[in-house]
Amino acid sequence: MPLQPLAPRQRKVLIVEDERIVAEDLRELIGELGHEVVGLAADGEEALALARQHLPDIVCMDIVIRGEIDGVETACQIQDQLGIPSLFTTANSDSAMVERAKQAQPAGYLVKPYDPDVLRCTLEVAFSRVDLDRELAARTRSFETLVEQRAQEFKKVQRQLFESQKMEAVGTLTGGIAHDFNNMLLPIMGYSNMLVEALGDQPELAKMADEIHQAANRSSALTRQLLAFSRRQILAKEVEDINTVIAGAGQMLERLAGDGVDLSLELADGRIFGVMDAAQIEQVLVNLCLNAREAMASGGRITIGTRRLGEGEGPVAASGGAIPDRPWMLVWVSDGGVGMTDEVRQRAFEPFFSTKGNDGTGLGLSVVHGIVHQHEGYVAVESEQGAGTTFYLYLPIAEVEEDSAQPEFGRREGSTEGGNERILVIEDEPQVRTFVARALSNKGYRIETAGDLATARAMLEKARLAGGYDMILSDCVLPDGSGVECLVEELEREPNTRAILSTGYTDREALVDAASEYDIGFLQKPYPLPKLFETVRHVLNGGASRPA
Ligand code: ADP
Ligand code: MG
Repeated sequence: MPLQPLAPRQRKVLIVEDERIVAEDLRELIGELGHEVVGLAADGEEALALARQHLPDIVCMDIVIRGEIDGVETACQIQDQLGIPSLFTTANSDSAMVERAKQAQPAGYLVKPYDPDVLRCTLEVAFSRVDLDRELAARTRSFETLVEQRAQEFKKVQRQLFESQKMEAVGTLTGGIAHDFNNMLLPIMGYSNMLVEALGDQPELAKMADEIHQAANRSSALTRQLLAFSRRQILAKEVEDINTVIAGAGQMLERLAGDGVDLSLELADGRIFGVMDAAQIEQVLVNLCLNAREAMASGGRITIGTRRLGEGEGPVAASGGAIPDRPWMLVWVSDGGVGMTDEVRQRAFEPFFSTKGNDGTGLGLSVVHGIVHQHEGYVAVESEQGAGTTFYLYLPIAEVEEDSAQPEFGRREGSTEGGNERILVIEDEPQVRTFVARALSNKGYRIETAGDLATARAMLEKARLAGGYDMILSDCVLPDGSGVECLVEELEREPNTRAILSTGYTDREALVDAASEYDIGFLQKPYPLPKLFETVRHVLNGGASRPA
């Protein structure tokens, strides 16, 4: 079939002309060109009214017309108010008039009497300009929308970045404080413990010492929370099934929920393995359940559930950073409590943020945040005032053979017996050094101490001639270097020496790696006295060490 030429699109034209005959003539010409004349106006006011009513594509406008406003003024108003351009048709072609006509941004200027061909061409050109103008306007609008959208997205990411930097900064600060605090707590805890035992025949004094010991223990619980928040705890990660961990903690959580609050578990079928520190995950559940209980003063239900997530269901980037593409599990804890306002929800994870006055520490959720992130996971929360709260924990799934995972988890109890082995204690904090030396000496061990690595290396060198030390117990960070390096050096030379690292905090995986490669024991400060004895005995006996 032969191609039909495209029919010119019919356009709507409004004619403004106070001379009736000229107007009719123009109407006829325009009609012959295939366009529709939507109206004839004789003055400016009528022109505006008809333009508003018919919204023509273009106005053919005489400049000199009857009435208050002339053609240029009318064209300006129609352009401003309706965005419709005018094509001037006038007998007047003096330059002053043309100059004035420009104000209306006309689509053309035609001098009467006009030739029909010139009219046709001028009209066609004017229509194509109208089309271009419209397209330009549409594009500008869509660009503006795009710019607006991008600006919104940018603001959102900026806010998220600010939030995560804030958490990071507060984490660094609290981690630092907790570290120094731990060093001070260690001798307080240790000496008060020794005093309690030494004062066995003076119950009054023993009681006082015990009070000191208990207060120090409570402080140490607080610093542990701070360390957890700042992600500087050493985790004892093992392959665990999350369902087993939750079910194992079930009874304890139920007791915690108390009267009037039910706990129900909606655990996924089968097992979902992850590399995690079960005790820390329990801590997360405890903190979330405590908050849920507090949000439901008149009772209700707490639900803990688990689910394997499918592709694309993983966490959404909250910090603007990329989320690793890996299998994820979801653990959720939900309550039907009072819920949170937007403002509370946004600040809930900040350390020391609490709406509970003196009853709250504001550390519960910070600890949740810290622990989950140290497990390479993410936390999200959904909450509505009066309609309850759900916390979502996204944790990485470890794909393991079912058999290779330990079905049981739990803490082992070790012996706190002493011995007569020769031990070198490397520690720069004099009070900690003296305390550890004294405590271990009391148990019969032969203790020598060094306050820095240079001294320690000299002592190790000298001792080598006389059989060497049975064990080295070293701090991680010393004024003149890394205790880890010093231990590794020594173990390379003397593989039979036993070693323990003690540390106030660490976020360095390298440490944990070194420890597992060389089988170094760990003591996280501040440790209670029995823990020190137990770890020393355990490592001396050649037991496999594991961070505790
Ligand atoms: P604390 O419980 O000591 O106040 P958290 O860090 O545990 O500190 O919680 C911070 C704040 O977050 C709480 O004070 C409370 O306002 C809000 N919040 C936390 N969990 C819930 C919940 N399940 N329902 C309602 N509000 C909650
Ligand atoms: Mg709390």
